[in-house]
Amino acid sequence: VKGIAELSLLVAVCAACWTRTPVGAVASAGLLLVRGDRVEDVALPDLLASFRTELPTTLQHALTTTVAQIPAVTAVELGVGGPRTWTPALRTAVVAQLGDDALAALDAEASMSGAPAFDAEAALERWSVGADTRQRAIRRARAAGVREPDRYRAHRRFLPDADALAADRAVDETLALATVLDLSWPVDPAARITSGFGYRTHPTLRTRKLHEGVDIAVPVGTAVAAAGAGTVIRARSNAVCGRHVKLDHGHGVTTSYCHGDLVEVERGVEVRRGQEIMKSGNTGRSTGPHLHFGLRIGGRPVDPAAFRARGATTRGFAGPDETASG
Ligand SMILES: [Zn+2]
Repeated sequence: VKGIAELSLLVAVCAACWTRTPVGAVASAGLLLVRGDRVEDVALPDLLASFRTELPTTLQHALTTTVAQIPAVTAVELGVGGPRTWTPALRTAVVAQLGDDALAALDAEASMSGAPAFDAEAALERWSVGADTRQRAIRRARAAGVREPDRYRAHRRFLPDADALAADRAVDETLALATVLDLSWPVDPAARITSGFGYRTHPTLRTRKLHEGVDIAVPVGTAVAAAGAGTVIRARSNAVCGRHVKLDHGHGVTTSYCHGDLVEVERGVEVRRGQEIMKSGNTGRSTGPHLHFGLRIGGRPVDPAAFRARGATTRGFAGPDETASG
């Protein structure tokens, strides 16, 4: 009887660890992914938090609170460099970062200027530091001969330090979050993830290593679509990634696509969201045909599946087909 009681206790403790800790959440998420189950069953904030320790705190918080409650993101073509227009993802990011009051103020401004012409970057900065402070910085930047002085990054160093920090949160982090929330999945969202993001024993190297992306099982020759509008910053081949492409979506957000059979874009070109950039393959350090899809925010690897989980199934996160036609 004592043996059974101890065994029950052990089972209960293991069950609690499995579901209540980040490690457990990640482990169970990994299991779900391996089994091909729907990823929505996982506690996403836990999953994200466990890998996000090095992102700015405010962005961590925004991602954690946002992912659980994202409205449907429709296929909105973004300009290169990220969202300047007023997209659902951007509105969501504003609420997560700056609160409902900011959304109301910016919504009012957007409706006056007309949504497609609405310069969200400028509006976010005005909301944060005030129109006068922004104008003073732009004037100083122009006098110093800075190119495109109206852009936040160009005149940031002419803002008072405290204002610049506040504006970073309002402008950079909000636009980074919105950019990530607007990404689509590079292949059919139904394709199975065979190896998730996180620490694993590497299949060929036999060492414990952070897997900085997800492996998606797709046959050689599958069309790979750009997850978002952006610039091709890498289109080449090496021993690890094989033939691969890396895209810069602006606002510190990049995606990478590895083990391709054929790269279809050149470095420096701009691509639309949903545009075919590569045929998948089995090149580089790879044990079978698959696409490795990676996502970074501010240079830090983040789990792209966390974002797919929300949208790729029932809530209208744009797939490649949807944007390619529109
Ligand atoms: Zn991989």
